[in-house]
Amino acid sequence: MSTSKIVIIGAGTGGMCLAHGLRRAGFEVAVHERDRTRTGGLHGYRVGISPNGARALKACLDEDLFATFVATTGRDYEHLTMYTERFAELLAMGFDDLPRLGDAPEDQDYNVSRTTLRQVLFTGMEDVITFDRVFTGYEQHTDGTVTAFFADGSSDRGDLLVGADGASSRVRAQYLPHATHSDTGLVGLGGKLPYDTPQAAALPERVRSGLSMLFDRRGQFGILHAMRMPWEPGGAPREGIGSDDAAQLAAWPGLRYDNTTDYVSWGLSTSRRVLPADVLERRGTDLHDVAADLTRDWDPRWHDLLAASDPSAAMAISVRTSDPLPAWTPSSVTLIGDAVHTMTPGRGAGANTALRDARELRDRLVRMRDGELTRDEAVGSYEELMRRYSALAVKESLEFMHDDVDRRSRLGVLAQRSAMRAMNRVPAAKRRMARNLQKVRDSELV
Ligand SMILES: Cc1cc2nc3c(=O)[nH]c(=O)nc-3n(C[C@H](O)[C@H](O)[C@H](O)COP(=O)(O)OP(=O)(O)OC[C@H]3O[C@@H](n4cnc5c(N)ncnc54)[C@H](O)[C@@H]3O)c2cc1C
Repeated sequence: MSTSKIVIIGAGTGGMCLAHGLRRAGFEVAVHERDRTRTGGLHGYRVGISPNGARALKACLDEDLFATFVATTGRDYEHLTMYTERFAELLAMGFDDLPRLGDAPEDQDYNVSRTTLRQVLFTGMEDVITFDRVFTGYEQHTDGTVTAFFADGSSDRGDLLVGADGASSRVRAQYLPHATHSDTGLVGLGGKLPYDTPQAAALPERVRSGLSMLFDRRGQFGILHAMRMPWEPGGAPREGIGSDDAAQLAAWPGLRYDNTTDYVSWGLSTSRRVLPADVLERRGTDLHDVAADLTRDWDPRWHDLLAASDPSAAMAISVRTSDPLPAWTPSSVTLIGDAVHTMTPGRGAGANTALRDARELRDRLVRMRDGELTRDEAVGSYEELMRRYSALAVKESLEFMHDDVDRRSRLGVLAQRSAMRAMNRVPAAKRRMARNLQKVRDSELV
């Protein structure tokens, strides 16, 4: 291959990580993103970056930007707590109980605001990304190159087209039309409110400094994240974050585009069967009201939280999962991230798997650059490995979340709660569970 130009569709988590890694390795890279501007789109939720994700970022970003990523992450969680819907403790762990490979920054878990991660990944890439470019289709040529076409009439030709365009990928629709998704029957509702509100202050201390899950008797599942950013609301680095991180933040131009302040975010996973038919079209306080109605018998502090949430951050998503994907012949088009493996949020593995894809593909394209592999060998070797680890992540994520809302017996609920309480009393059982939780998030541990 003489030109080695890589065209990436989608400036999301996976696409941007890949773009950094390839540009550093000397490739010509062009990223096309449909959001109209750098701050467009709704990217407000929290993402847990696991060692899989952190190692990919370490491998692809330059040293200074990886340090910026670390400096812009939220305060580490202290607790992981599972509660009943009335905040009665079922199982409690420290984040220190999660198994780790080592102390290096890339072996840790991070609390990340997705808006912030997006801005970190845009840093220094102004000449690589074109915004307001909606990909519509591609054409593969007999000389091995490929052209991407866009809604504004423009096109871009390269040696490899990478579909990093998320769960509704148009690249996948054209390239692998047989790659289907299934509806899990679940819908996720979510929102957030500022950390310094009285409603957030009234939450149990463990909730305010950790990740909390609520399991109700109907089979609904709630989640609460406390996100505390390393800067003051005005953007000044916070006291106590460490002088290296403070210096990194002060020097980071991305903070101008990111106004994230401390927040508590909530999510509720429930069945579409018990929801209004138009729930996915609803917005704002309408969604808060739906969540409140479904959780009528939950703790009053949960209800106060919903009532005080920011209407503009309310969201409803249908939870989908990729169906098993048979192998295909590698070519000048490939896919990474949600575009090729959509999974439920059950294991917090979607973004981390997208990041791992970026790293694995970059590693093989570097070997192609060095003459060790042909393009199709590089792409084929990445795709073969990716199909294996993503199938595990999809399966484990689905197992954690399934629709049994209102289909549980009283006995089933009691059994689940007794099992959690029993495990809570046995440190070895808790450690086993922690290891299992980390399995799809840290492939080096398996
Ligand atoms: C509420 C919530 C919480 C989550 N929490 C976690 C978590 O804790 N841990 C975790 O690992 N994952 C989490 N995930 C999943 C994670 O966000 C996704 O798996 C991840 O963002 C996928 O990255 P990606 O790069 O494949 O796609 P995306 O980040 O979705 O990026 C796709 C990009 O492509 C662009 N695009 C789409 N179509 C086109 C087009 N036609 N032309 C041009 N551009 C286009 C989009 O605008 C977008 O910028 C969560 C998801 C949600 C919804």
